[in-house]
Amino acid sequence: MKQDIDAAEIASKRFGQNFLKDRRYVDQIIQAMPDDDLPVVEIGPGLGDLTSALVQVRNVTAFEVDTRLCKRLQIQFSHTRGSEKLRLECGDVLKYWEAGSLLEEPYHLVANLPYYIATRLVLKALHDPQCQSILVMMQKEVALKFAAQPGERNFSPLSVLASDSGEACLCFEVPPEAFIPSPKVTSAVLSISKERTLEDPAFERFLKIAFAQPRKKLGKNLENAFDKGAIRHALYAEGIDPLSRPHEVAAEHYHHLYTILKKDLKDGKRESESIRHKR
Ligand code: SAM
Repeated sequence: MKQDIDAAEIASKRFGQNFLKDRRYVDQIIQAMPDDDLPVVEIGPGLGDLTSALVQVRNVTAFEVDTRLCKRLQIQFSHTRGSEKLRLECGDVLKYWEAGSLLEEPYHLVANLPYYIATRLVLKALHDPQCQSILVMMQKEVALKFAAQPGERNFSPLSVLASDSGEACLCFEVPPEAFIPSPKVTSAVLSISKERTLEDPAFERFLKIAFAQPRKKLGKNLENAFDKGAIRHALYAEGIDPLSRPHEVAAEHYHHLYTILKKDLKDGKRESESIRHKR
C-alpha cells in the first residue's frame, strides 16, 4: 500500500507516467515475449516493475528520461537479483535513436510506453533495422489502428505500415485500474513480429495523402496531389472501385497505386516536391 502511495506521488504527467502495478499483466507480457535469447530494449522502466521481471529472463537495456526515476532505478537494481543483466541509459530515447539503432545487435522491444509519444516510438522501432519485434502497452485506440485489417473502421496508414513490416495483433486489453495513477483510457498490448524494416519515407507521405480525410473517397483524397485522369487509370489498373474509402483498400494496393502514381504528378511537379507539400 505504501508503494502505491509512492507511485501516485512520484508520477509525472509530463512524462506520461502511469505505472503498471497489477502483477498479472506484467506476467502476461513476459509470457507473450518471443521464444528466443535476444536481448530486450525497454523504453521507460519507470519504477522498475516490468524491468524486474524482464531481467529474470533476458539481458535488458532500459532508457529512462526522468532523472529522478533513473537515480531510484540505479539504487534499486544494485540490490536486485539479476541486476547484472540490466544496462540503464538515462535520457530521452528519441535522442539515442537520432544516433542510429538503439542497440548494435538484434533486439526485441518490450515496454509499457509513455502514451504521449507511443505512436512515434512504434514507428521509430519499425524503422530500426536491429529491432526484430515489438511488444508494447499503449492506448487501446492506437493499438487498434496498428492491428486493423482492410475493411475495418480503424484501418489507417499505421495498419499499412505495420503489415508492411510483419504481422500485427492486439494481444490483450488492460483496464485503467491496473495502473497507478489510473489513465483515463483503456490500454492494450500490441505485438508486431517484424520481418522487414520500413525505409521509404515518400511512401509514408503518400499514405498521409490517401488517408487525409478518412471518410471521403480515396480518389478524392488523392486529387490533392495527383491528376484526376491518372488516379482514374491507377484505380482501374488495380481493380479498385472508384467509390472506395481509404480504409477499404488493402495494403498491397497502396504500394501499387504509389508505384503507378508517383510518375504522374499534377503540374509536372516532381514526386518528392508534391508529396512534401502535403505533410
Ligand atoms: N515501465 C513502467 C511501468 O510499466 O510501470 C513505466 C511506464 S510509464 C507508462 C512510461 C515511462 O516512460 C515513464 O517512466 C516515463 O518517465 C518514461 N518516458 C517518457 N518519455 C520518455 C522518453 N522520451 N524516453 C525515455 N523514457 C521516457
